[in-house]
Amino acid sequence: MAQTTPPPRATVPLRILIVGAGVAGPATAFWLSRLGHDCTIVERYPGLRVNGLQIDVHDAGAEAADRMGVLSEIRRRRVEEEGTKFVDVEDRVQAVFGRHDGKKQALTSEYEIMRGDLCKLLYERTEEKVKYRFGVSVDDFQNGTDGVTVTLSDGTVERYDLLVGADGQGSRVRRMMLHQKAEASYRRLNAFCCYFTMPRRPEDKDNMATICHVPGQRFIMTRWHTQARGQTYLFAMSHTEELREALKKDVETERQAFTRAFADAGWKVPRLLEDMQTAEDFYGQELVQVVCPNWSLGRVVLVGDAGYAPSPFTGMGTSLAFIGAYVLAGEIASHPGDLPAAFAGYDKTLRPMVEKTQKLPPGFPGAAFQETGLKVGVLHWTVWLLSGMFQLALMLRLPEAMSAIGKWFPGKAWALPVYDELEAVRPKNPYPI
Ligand SMILES: Cc1cc2nc3c(=O)[nH]c(=O)nc-3n(C[C@H](O)[C@H](O)[C@H](O)COP(=O)(O)OP(=O)(O)OC[C@H]3O[C@@H](n4cnc5c(N)ncnc54)[C@H](O)[C@@H]3O)c2cc1C
Repeated sequence: MAQTTPPPRATVPLRILIVGAGVAGPATAFWLSRLGHDCTIVERYPGLRVNGLQIDVHDAGAEAADRMGVLSEIRRRRVEEEGTKFVDVEDRVQAVFGRHDGKKQALTSEYEIMRGDLCKLLYERTEEKVKYRFGVSVDDFQNGTDGVTVTLSDGTVERYDLLVGADGQGSRVRRMMLHQKAEASYRRLNAFCCYFTMPRRPEDKDNMATICHVPGQRFIMTRWHTQARGQTYLFAMSHTEELREALKKDVETERQAFTRAFADAGWKVPRLLEDMQTAEDFYGQELVQVVCPNWSLGRVVLVGDAGYAPSPFTGMGTSLAFIGAYVLAGEIASHPGDLPAAFAGYDKTLRPMVEKTQKLPPGFPGAAFQETGLKVGVLHWTVWLLSGMFQLALMLRLPEAMSAIGKWFPGKAWALPVYDELEAVRPKNPYPI
């Protein structure tokens, strides 16, 4: 008998409030609004918050973006980064990893994009169907059996069927839901990072991400997103008490703490620290993962960094936002009128993937932060070896082989589920790959 796609199941439109217009919020609104639900996004920033540096999507995250029809547009707006190189303090190249095209994880992928450009793209793809309210956040909510009553910062009190917390790593919705301080859900990695953009100088010729490890448990990365501007990232696993204390204070104190922590680092750091003093987009943070025993309570649910930020060491934060949005919408669609069952399905389906993603390789992140020059030398030798193996694997087409082998063992790899209800409302891709 011929296979036919079942018709979408009837759903009663829900009134949904989503907190946060980053990546997870608009991606969730994208799917839920296409399913016919009435979605409003509140964003505490006065406009679309387009700061942030380079992010990318990988693996199932790229697949989820593809199903939204935005993957090819991400590639069109991408940063033209040719690959990643490791250098020593004398700027001598130690290892090179070329860009890997395709949806598989790599240091530089073909889907590198500035966070602001991705936020704008998602806004463009949702603004027609989704109401955005900027400069507004959630002050309080009361879970009820037939709705959630939300008090907003503009003084309004409104009733919704569902409240989605997509408000990032420090999520206020999560704090209120779990009656906890933000830190209570943090798995600390004891590493700190600051980043900012800076002008490009004539000597900044290639379009490679460049990583320089230095003694004292620190490394520096530079990237170039236009002909005129670049990005600096300073990572440290030392000076921890001073950096942690500074991050509780103002931006100037943070800037000075990072300046002291990197003052003797060598390489191009003096010039980068000079640029840092005037960078308006300087941002410092402690690197953490969000580990949350439950992602929902009553009619409130978390998505993206708010529920399961994996940390920049995994390179999967944006991917998880796309994946989480897709799975949450799919579970809501496949359990019409039954939010508890939808949330249980969301947890059951996604948690194995989140736990796998948050599991850092043995020795990480410590292995990336070496104390002595000798150990930095050993690290360089290791990445040189890995880059050789990477080249060989590409020559032998191993990624394709691994993915083909994976299909023989479907239980081993996590694959993005397919929801018929979402397939039925999936847009036709305007820019086929
Ligand atoms: C300003 C900024 C810069 C970033 N820069 C980088 C970067 O350079 N590299 C990188 O890998 N990752 C960066 N990230 C994190 C990255 O965007 C996320 O890991 C990933 O995209 C998952 O997105 P998300 O939507 O879950 O969270 P986020 O992208 O953090 O989005 C959360 C949104 O919620 C809003 N929000 C927060 N609290 C409230 C509230 N109480 N009420 C209403 N709205 C609220 C925030 O303003 C933000 O727009 C940055 C995040 C932000 C907010």
